Amino acid sequence: MKAAVIEQYQRDLVMHYDLATPECSPEGALIKVSACGVCRSDWHGWQGHWDWIGFKPQLPAVLGHEMVGEILEVGSQVRRFKRGDRIIAPFNLGCGHCEQCSGGHQNVCDNFSAIGFHMSGGFGEFVHVPRADINLVSLPESISDHSGAALGCRYMTSYHGVVHEGEARPGEWVVVYGSGGVGLAAVEIATQLGAQVIAVARSDRKLEQAKALGAAAVLRFHPKVGEEIIELTKGGAHLSLDCLGKKETCQQSILSLRTRGRHVQLGLTTAEEKGEIALPVDVMVAKELVLRGSLGMQPHRYPEMLAQVMLGRLNPSRMISQTIQAEEISRTLTAMTTYQTDGFVVVDWKK
Ligand SMILES: [Zn+2]
Ligand SMILES: [Zn+2]
Repeated sequence: MKAAVIEQYQRDLVMHYDLATPECSPEGALIKVSACGVCRSDWHGWQGHWDWIGFKPQLPAVLGHEMVGEILEVGSQVRRFKRGDRIIAPFNLGCGHCEQCSGGHQNVCDNFSAIGFHMSGGFGEFVHVPRADINLVSLPESISDHSGAALGCRYMTSYHGVVHEGEARPGEWVVVYGSGGVGLAAVEIATQLGAQVIAVARSDRKLEQAKALGAAAVLRFHPKVGEEIIELTKGGAHLSLDCLGKKETCQQSILSLRTRGRHVQLGLTTAEEKGEIALPVDVMVAKELVLRGSLGMQPHRYPEMLAQVMLGRLNPSRMISQTIQAEEISRTLTAMTTYQTDGFVVVDWKK
């Protein structure tokens, strides 16, 4: 099969045209990838980051975790899916039998593994997904490959963070730090829920995009932007999301909140923080703030999000800025180093 392979961190990916197609396990499915998004998490994997949280890919690696495709083969034990089904494969894989999976939280499975990090992903033509019955989601006919890939990781991660972990409600002030894929998706999702969204980013270009997606206000990031938000909202935001995972955005997000406000951490940190950020603990105590993490989304929660896409209330494909071929992934990852990509870049395997 064809695949774009990381042979060395931070160096150009190497195209291979005759890699072995993955074997299908008895409970797994072999997917022919139709489209796959290029995510900032891929950039972190390519950089060799995230060893502090067990996400550093072992080389050689085929990344790609925002994947839509068609089932080519299922194992003998698979019951819910068959050859020819169109599917989304959420990157967060559950084992199906641990405490978290049993409780419906497969996205934070005690035996967690991720497509494109712990196994070969959608920057290759074919992907094996283990335990297909619990880890795949059917893609409705009316949702295109590109929309499905755009739902990939950033959009669904954002949906879970805003709706389930953040519990955004109509009329609330919701602040979104960062206007990359997760941030822009959060602006659209929270706006659609009836919240008043304030987008905070560093570039005017990204703030314009946030505005177009419905943000009620946009602010350029500065070291005291939290105070500005408390003033603007007359007391602070009800919910604030850090979609970047940088020290300053995480801290300002917490400092944007009103009493009993909720902070949701969606971005994993960069090589600068290595997972550690100093927090304004006294403010948290005095205001009874809630801090939550949010990772991916469980497959059983996809139908509620897909229904909104089918109704046209959510438009993930609106965030696609470019479709590319596998040969162009390297260039996209390089552009991400200096934040030169906008919205979602999607590899179209049918191109
Ligand atoms: Zn599990
Ligand atoms: Zn991702």
